[in-house]
Amino acid sequence: MKLTRWGPRGAEKPGLCDAKGRIRSLAGVIDDVRGDVLLPEALAKLAKLDPETLPLVGEDVRLGACVGGVGKFLCIGLNYADHAAESGMAVPTEPVIFDKATSAIVGPNDDVEMPRRGEKLDWEVELGVVIGKPAKYVEKSRAREHIAGFCVINDLSERRFQLEGTGQWIKGKSCDTFGPMGPWLVTKDEVRDPQDLAIWLEVDGRRFQNGNTRTMIFDVDYLVAYVSQFMSLQPGDVISTGTPPGVGLGQKPDPIWLKVGQTMRLGIQGLGEQRQRVIAAP
Ligand code: ZN
Repeated sequence: MKLTRWGPRGAEKPGLCDAKGRIRSLAGVIDDVRGDVLLPEALAKLAKLDPETLPLVGEDVRLGACVGGVGKFLCIGLNYADHAAESGMAVPTEPVIFDKATSAIVGPNDDVEMPRRGEKLDWEVELGVVIGKPAKYVEKSRAREHIAGFCVINDLSERRFQLEGTGQWIKGKSCDTFGPMGPWLVTKDEVRDPQDLAIWLEVDGRRFQNGNTRTMIFDVDYLVAYVSQFMSLQPGDVISTGTPPGVGLGQKPDPIWLKVGQTMRLGIQGLGEQRQRVIAAP
């Protein structure tokens, strides 16, 4: 299934994408695509629905983030060896975990804000893992049982806030709109191999990132198991698994930063595409 959320910001309704790519409403079936709706038994119930019996939603509807009520929005840093190199950082010997404020989450095609005092706005297309079953001290061999599905995430950063001040990366990763998520939460049964997905990003039509999830240092099962050694995970938590090379910070001879008015387009094979315009923060 491809689950989604549609409607005005803050008032999104649940939906799913049918075989013809049309969005159908799940309002009245479930309250939202969130939390316990992502448990295996709840997803199994949804999978039994005939999409043709669900009301169609207009084609020009806004899509919200594909998961609502995200409890934890965790990110893995430097999880592609080439990206670590372009960032001038060593390949980590264990996963680097950081946090992104959940208030940064927006829909896949919403505008992205250049924050006030922002100068170094940067992009990162990433494979998002959506947790579907509580996880605590999980073995890698059983990690997949705790995953509901996958989605596209743009892990936006303000590199000055992230790297040039004191403290943790969270400052440069959490501005409003820095977490477009979606268009779909694709359930794991529809993703043949999450470690073999083309992943790409363009700015104004120029392709900067063009990778494959097979070059991740730590794969998704390892990451779920690893994170669960430090904190419990709940359905609706999201782990963004790091970005392939080609971010603005890594451009030679000089970094390239996003400017107001530019448009990003990004996607992952089988998981859909996003498009965001950069605007000045109000
Ligand atoms: Zn990232």
